[in-house]
Amino acid sequence: MPSDNRPITNFIAGSWRPGRDRLDIFNPSDLDELAGSYTLAGADDVAEAVAAARSAQPHWRAATVEQRSLVLDAISRALFDGKDELARIAAAEGGKTIPDALGEITRAAHLARFFSAEALRAPGETLGSVRPGVEVDVTREPVGVIGLVTPWNFPVATPMWKIAPALAFGNAVIWKPSEKTPGISIAVTRIIAAALEAHGMPASLFNLVIGAGPNVGAAVVDAVDAVSFTGSVNTGRRIAVRCAERMIRVQLELGGQNPLVVLGDADPERAAEIGVNSAYFHAGQRCTATGRFIVEDSIHDAFVAAMVERMAALRVGHALLPETQIGPVIDEFQLTKNLQYIDTGLNEGARLVSGGTRLERPTRGYFLAPTLFTDTGNAMTINREEVFGPVASVIRVRDYDEALAVANDTDYGLSSGIITNSMKHARHFQANIQAGMTMLNLPTAGVDYHVPFGGRKMSSYGPREQGRSAIEFYTIIKTAYRAL
Ligand code: NAD
Repeated sequence: MPSDNRPITNFIAGSWRPGRDRLDIFNPSDLDELAGSYTLAGADDVAEAVAAARSAQPHWRAATVEQRSLVLDAISRALFDGKDELARIAAAEGGKTIPDALGEITRAAHLARFFSAEALRAPGETLGSVRPGVEVDVTREPVGVIGLVTPWNFPVATPMWKIAPALAFGNAVIWKPSEKTPGISIAVTRIIAAALEAHGMPASLFNLVIGAGPNVGAAVVDAVDAVSFTGSVNTGRRIAVRCAERMIRVQLELGGQNPLVVLGDADPERAAEIGVNSAYFHAGQRCTATGRFIVEDSIHDAFVAAMVERMAALRVGHALLPETQIGPVIDEFQLTKNLQYIDTGLNEGARLVSGGTRLERPTRGYFLAPTLFTDTGNAMTINREEVFGPVASVIRVRDYDEALAVANDTDYGLSSGIITNSMKHARHFQANIQAGMTMLNLPTAGVDYHVPFGGRKMSSYGPREQGRSAIEFYTIIKTAYRAL
């Protein structure tokens, strides 16, 4: 900490330094506990970070594939080794339960490990030419300095599925995390900086700027060579417009209003078990969470009864207590927004069958009862917009055809699912649901780290993240002709 006592929170040009305006984060499970004090970077810090990243990137680009692979391997190991402390930070500032946080950090460690191996697979091909005596090489080069703008709900895994491929393929990084989860971003950056330094690489090729979206986030978008963004549709649209003006590449992962269809042949108990996990774990703050249960008439009542029974048994409370299954929502803004959506649902005629209220617990926190509506129509606001909280609704349908039509009648297209034993309907759903990801007899939320992740319609824009698809965004193709 410098002599003026301002907390050091930004990693710029290879050194830790304080910002200006103070930012105090309180534990959402216990508002009387300060989770951490930080200071926010300004737009001028971004300019310095980008300049440093630009001058460091050629060293990284020139590193061997093995050196890049080893750095990612070191990041992976440090995430595995440090997972308990990292989980505690994520739980204290973001309200994740410890098991949820450990799951996320382990996933981030696997992501770094996956891209450690991908870094070794120098991609490219040599082809013949239509002209005699000529060969054609198709190779991939790093893009340059990538700006990563990320949200608070998965503060380690979402950044890591961008950071790892960005580094693996030779790029420098400016990371602008959500200002709601600064502590965990600092801890992850320490790991990355240490891994770079341990392998003789300039740490200045990775920069962390913690600041408000409209000034620091926008300054990043204005200065880098490409932007990978995860967050809300409104922010994503603004960023895409700016990137188009600058003619730089952009990748957006946005919201969802994910449908889970339950057909009449399903076991209602199994469907409810999947449903509760899908809609309410991590307090529903997952972009892949189920918002709409689209349920065939013949199983409707049994499914709703099984859901209500399970929901009554859910343990909502302080995220750091071992018995807690669902922690608080992240902050007052989110809690108020969730409660407003619940009011809107009631005003539009939905029937509340579980939850719907803020919960009192021994500590002051943003606890919200997992909430289920029935008697809802697909045109209701709660079924059109992304609530992003522990709130879901049931839409009753006559048959499979109506279920599919309702599932697709949305502006979003991130995740989706169907619960059935019918191979015919399962295959038809897989082929015809307009979503980037679809699940059979599984929650809509919960995805693997080694396969593509992304959606359609308003949920995504640009090339897919994760897995072998990630290379599309983080590299530029060069076609080289050679006369022999
Ligand atoms: P948000 O859009 O408010 O913020 C996301 C990030 O953008 C933050 O770092 C914020 O500071 C920054 N930002 C805000 N305004 C900006 C601007 N004008 N220019 C540049 N940056 C700016 O979203 P949030 O509330 O942090 O996250 C929740 C949203 O993220 C939900 O809609 C959720 O569905 C979505 N999400 C999507 C995925 C996915 O992969 N599809 C994953 C997780 C979360």
